[in-house]
Amino acid sequence: MKTIEDLDVAGKRVFVRADLNVPLSDGTITDDGRIRAVAPTIAKLVQRGAKVVVASHLGRPKGEPDPQFSLAPVADRLREILGTPVSFATDTVGESAKATVAALADGEVTLLENLRFNAGETSKDDAERKAFAEQLAALAELYVGDGFGAVHRKHASVFDLPGLLPHAVGDLISTEVGVLKRLTEEVERPYVVVLGGSKVSDKVGVIDNLLGKADRILIGGGMAYTFLYALGHEVGISLLQKDQVPTVLEYLERGKANGVEFVLPVDVAVSASFPDTKTHAPVEDFDVVDADKIPADKEGLDIGPKTRELFAAKLADAKTVFWNGPVGVFEHPTFAEGTKAVAQALLDSDAFTVVGGGDSAAAVRILGFDETKFGHISTGGGASLEYLEGKTLPGLAALEG
Ligand code: ADP
Ligand code: MG
Repeated sequence: MKTIEDLDVAGKRVFVRADLNVPLSDGTITDDGRIRAVAPTIAKLVQRGAKVVVASHLGRPKGEPDPQFSLAPVADRLREILGTPVSFATDTVGESAKATVAALADGEVTLLENLRFNAGETSKDDAERKAFAEQLAALAELYVGDGFGAVHRKHASVFDLPGLLPHAVGDLISTEVGVLKRLTEEVERPYVVVLGGSKVSDKVGVIDNLLGKADRILIGGGMAYTFLYALGHEVGISLLQKDQVPTVLEYLERGKANGVEFVLPVDVAVSASFPDTKTHAPVEDFDVVDADKIPADKEGLDIGPKTRELFAAKLADAKTVFWNGPVGVFEHPTFAEGTKAVAQALLDSDAFTVVGGGDSAAAVRILGFDETKFGHISTGGGASLEYLEGKTLPGLAALEG
């Protein structure tokens, strides 16, 4: 793969595919980690006299403009972080984009509006995607792929566009891939993996591969309830994916056969309804119950105190840790204790610690931990999981050669 250093960028229009998909609450960025992570790449291009055209997706708009997913607040934040002017195009390949790009002087930056306001970006139809990629290609002379959080997507700006322009890999992706290599090739043991979050089916897949690599797998978050259910426990109204039960049972069997220890919650924090993560209204019916005694009308929303201790003990002697997915609904303080305990256990160990996942990374910062104390905080959740699953990532494949 070529790096930025291999490109002659001075005076050239350089398209940077970034991942600026940050969490927003009423138009305010609640965690700017992804913007800060790609800023050095943009700054380097600016310093070398490129005309920098930055593009990203934000959220999941339906292939047409939708103001709630505008990148405008991100342009403001990017400007603050870079400390240089950043112009903003109110479309992606239309008149505004053409005009702002044409107005760029050497060393200036513009951000295009959300790529996913165009149906071609995520289209499953190769021709439709390619047509959109060609419109994007017309805006620039060179391409730098640095949107690590999107490299697992076969999208126009990630997969098709690099084929149309001389391209290089950005520094963020280089760093991310270097860390993931360390988790797959030369892992120091014990290697402990913590899995949580809400996207159960997205996360179950990685276990398949980890069964040949990890020493222990700690299961928290929404996924835990499918495991508990598979073991014959009632889980009330907790997140549950019944169709995954056979897979989960097979994993538990293979874990036994391969000497990989699964650690499941022994107690959980429950409530009758999902907490209000905006107002943080007090949870009236908060309760902690044993994991095999979840009431029929209650939902498990965090690991309980006994599980916090158990997880901490299982992490204490780790030499390598990969953590993906908050173990509870950390956006409400009542259900943030488990996630806090996991973050603290990572810091207390002397392991090389890798945190992956947009919400996990945000949780670490929002809960007040010093991000520099972790080995690496990845900007990609799905991307890092698919890498660890051993899959070919379209956005990385496209940057080869
Ligand atoms: P990441 O972005 O780190 O990959 P996910 O997107 O999979 O993580 O999941 C993050 C979300 O999971 C958080 O918003 C959190 O509230 C939610 N979550 C964690 N535990 C539970 C649970 N027990 N039930 C429902 N949602 C949960
Ligand atoms: Mg997420």
